Amino acid sequence: MTIANMKFFDFQSVTVLTTDKCTAKCAHCCVSSSPKRKAKLSFDEIRGMLDALLDEHQLKVVVFAGGEPSLLKNDLVKAIRYCTDRNIHTRVVTNASWAIDEQRARGMLKKWRDAGLGDLNVSADDYHLPYIPLDRLNRVWHAAKGLGFNSVIIALAYQKGSYVTYDRLCELFGEPDIAQVYDENGIPKELDPLRDDDGTLYAICQRPASRSGRGLKLIDTEDVIHLDGRGEYSTCPWIRSSPAISPRGELVSCCGFEARRVKALHYGTLSTATLGAINARGDDVVLHALTMVGPKRLLEFVREKQNSDVTFDRHVSMCEACEDLMGKPANIKILREHAAELAAWSIARAKRKAQRQAAQRKQALEAAAADSEAQEASA
Ligand code: SF4
Ligand code: SF4
Repeated sequence: MTIANMKFFDFQSVTVLTTDKCTAKCAHCCVSSSPKRKAKLSFDEIRGMLDALLDEHQLKVVVFAGGEPSLLKNDLVKAIRYCTDRNIHTRVVTNASWAIDEQRARGMLKKWRDAGLGDLNVSADDYHLPYIPLDRLNRVWHAAKGLGFNSVIIALAYQKGSYVTYDRLCELFGEPDIAQVYDENGIPKELDPLRDDDGTLYAICQRPASRSGRGLKLIDTEDVIHLDGRGEYSTCPWIRSSPAISPRGELVSCCGFEARRVKALHYGTLSTATLGAINARGDDVVLHALTMVGPKRLLEFVREKQNSDVTFDRHVSMCEACEDLMGKPANIKILREHAAELAAWSIARAKRKAQRQAAQRKQALEAAAADSEAQEASA
């Protein structure tokens, strides 16, 4: 049996990168979108590719991102409806540039919601500000109220000295204490208790900006913020479960950066006919290593070899570390040349980690049992 036969890929969600064109050209854009780029998917293409994935995978969530997905106009509405009709939850990630007045804001959101859109993610921060004034964000925030979304989340990337902050957004929206997705250490909160009375989660998701995509050149290392809880050392769960479809119709590992530019993360044109070849990519030792030990540990592995190419010592996030590793041909060459050593090293590390975690769980359980016995005895 090959490794692929053990079904490395088990896609639960997919991000459709609808277009690389955008109404903005943000300095931190991890997929380097801009008004000048032109690749775009049509509804028919999206439907064909989702159908191909649905032949083998039980997709639960489809995320429509970009570039700016609203540029697909009615094709986006049709794609949302197509998923809704198949009981697939949907999310749109947008920059709100289209909310030029209240009527336009409400009209666009209503169209998406009527097609069944579940989650609305709106990006807003200092990097968007030169292109998209904050009044558009304010319009979307208020226009989304009461439409019945599952969630309305503002994605706020920040660095040292940012102008657009959590407090500024609360002031802009005229609402103090808006719910937050992460705590100050970057640890995710339990979200259901934070839901509004109308059932929707209205929240702000603050995360430090990464030096990814265009940000690699444009974001100064002096300005980035490292949070202990952000997990640059995380292992990657997404590579097995959450690929992305590129604006050119290719299946790629994820939307963490422009993965289509990296051969190891670019699985090929997506159609029913190509699924077999895509599944066979699950044999790749590098993909396994990313899930077992994560990109940051792999950077440590390549750093011990000659000719490695590593830009940063510390990384803001797992995906920033991944681009530093996988975006450099010299590092991929090292991983390929030492494939057998890499496999053994990854397995040994993963085993040690599993043993450590099992020991910690055992300790926690024993402590809880001792506590409970002590309480019983004193009652
Ligand atoms: S970050 Fe979003 S809004 Fe900004 S250029 Fe990239 S896709 Fe467009
Ligand atoms: S760690 Fe790498 S493969 Fe995984 S989601 Fe991030 S960029 Fe993609």
